Amino acid sequence: MLCRQVFLLLGIRLVCRGCDVVLESNQRNHCALCGVYISQKNMIEIANKGRIASRSAEANAKQSAAQKQTLTAVQLVLTECSRRIQPN
Ligand SMILES: [Zn+2]
Repeated sequence: MLCRQVFLLLGIRLVCRGCDVVLESNQRNHCALCGVYISQKNMIEIANKGRIASRSAEANAKQSAAQKQTLTAVQLVLTECSRRIQPN
């Protein structure tokens, strides 16, 4: 941000890296239009990476472990409930 202030003091205008429009003082690297486009593009790439990662063996192992943990917890709750309903 210091560089931006120096540029402004020197009268140097920063331009969008996508379309060469002169940037407003609150814009860093891209104008609003390019920023939206880049954000959408990044979100699609991130979603694709997430989708691929969710199918990995490691992800399956984590999901399986979580399901076993949940099943164990449910069994404990059901056991406790039945014990309270029908005490020995
Ligand atoms: Zn732009």
